[in-house]
Amino acid sequence: MLTLTTVDELRAELDAARLGGRSIGLVPTMGALHEGHLSLIDRSVAENGVTVVTVFVNPTQFRPGEDLDAYPRQLADDVALASERGADIVFAPAADEVYADDHSTTVSVGGITESLCGAPERRGHQHFDGVTTVVAKLFNMVQPDRAYFGQKDAQQLAVIRRMVRDLNFRTAVIACPTVREADGLAMSSRNAYLSGKERVRALAISRALRAVSESFLAGEREVTKLAMLARAELFDVDSVEYLEMVDFETLEPVSEITDATLVAIAAHVGNTRLIDNILLDPSPDNSSGIDPNTTPRETPSAIHQSRTL
Ligand code: AMP
Repeated sequence: MLTLTTVDELRAELDAARLGGRSIGLVPTMGALHEGHLSLIDRSVAENGVTVVTVFVNPTQFRPGEDLDAYPRQLADDVALASERGADIVFAPAADEVYADDHSTTVSVGGITESLCGAPERRGHQHFDGVTTVVAKLFNMVQPDRAYFGQKDAQQLAVIRRMVRDLNFRTAVIACPTVREADGLAMSSRNAYLSGKERVRALAISRALRAVSESFLAGEREVTKLAMLARAELFDVDSVEYLEMVDFETLEPVSEITDATLVAIAAHVGNTRLIDNILLDPSPDNSSGIDPNTTPRETPSAIHQSRTL
């Protein structure tokens, strides 16, 4: 496996792979790889001739005062893990390789970036502009056939799908289910910030989602009732930034679950901000005619996920 740091080296390698007829899979990450990231790598390795894992702590997607400096950086471990899982290239550029000093172009998706993590009071639009700009740049650097993203960051996934559609990128966006610890906590590089006691309290988030999922599976469709169940579980976190049920495609709030609905939570435990979500789909046969790789309705795995929270 190669570890590369410049766009020129990366392009030279990928041009050769493309000439050899190999498809290219991209797994963008900020590093501190865990089983969630590795599940994306596994899927890319299974589906592509070449898998590129990018490790880049993207400064433009951090809000002022957020954990940019503290964010865990462990490139040697990441390289070893990516290699073990069969990746071909780790691309780990320095910030000045990605952003020229006078970089002045931003890719900005409207509408769906303005709710949940993007709410104006959270300066969230700035966060998503950072995400879409860096992902557009990575797509241009790598020109992947497929790019793999986790359902764990459901809004990010929806925003990237929108960008790909609106800007006619040729890359297929592949959604991968959220990987959890055995006790239900969604894996995240930020879990490393949690003390032992905080980690126990953080379980309230997956408990809340499980309560919603169980009630949904038992037939409840009213959002106020489902939200009450979730709130009752969330007493262990320090603050709930949002608990929302939104249409899976538009991210608009819903009052009743009649279509695929995202249940999304952002909460603070100590100084750590954690997000998690599940997808609920009331359609009787959610697997018919739906290609989970090309539409946002990858419901079979998501529903399975909600059952196994
Ligand atoms: P990050 O390094 O946090 O920017 O995440 C890189 C990619 O890994 C994103 O597509 C995330 O959605 C995905 N990811 C992070 N945590 C998980 C998880 N627990 N399960 C599945 N995918 C994940």
